[in-house]
Amino acid sequence: MIEFRCLRCRKCCQNLFRETPYGLNGLALFSNEIQLFSQKEIYPFHGIGKSPDDEKFKISVYQLGVKNYPHLNDNGCTIYSKRPLACKSYPFEPFRIAPDGEIQLTFDVECTGILELQGRNPSEFADGKISAPVELRYCLILLEKVAKIQQEEELKWSFDLQTKKWKQDKIIKIK
Ligand code: SF4
Repeated sequence: MIEFRCLRCRKCCQNLFRETPYGLNGLALFSNEIQLFSQKEIYPFHGIGKSPDDEKFKISVYQLGVKNYPHLNDNGCTIYSKRPLACKSYPFEPFRIAPDGEIQLTFDVECTGILELQGRNPSEFADGKISAPVELRYCLILLEKVAKIQQEEELKWSFDLQTKKWKQDKIIKIK
């Protein structure tokens, strides 16, 4: 077992945008986290309902529409203890969708700490034996929240920051 260690390089805070199966997306935020940011930077991320125009349409997850994390100064994150769940669990991600539609726990290979592990011990790394008690604990909380949303049986939609349009999701199963 090798241990993940954040190297405090801040690379992850300097490019929050990702190309995902939904298009271009920013930092995922739950409704209790959007007040941490300027409201003009908040966009919907996922929604549930017949159509985004339907009056019963419900936004289940939001996203930050800026590339650079706004609460960063020379000393680091100014809201560190209150930072969003997606920051707390990074570089581990429960949102990656496998071709068969299942959600998996995975990690961002762009993270400097992950790259260091790859260089240091490729054989152990290949087995996926990474210890990261803090990040993985938050990752599981994140997964639980996502699982609750996915249980809703209505159509799911995702918002692409590039086109500023909603797209209908494919069906996602959680085992
Ligand atoms: S990119 Fe990885 S190592 Fe660098 S600050 Fe982010 S989590 Fe830490």
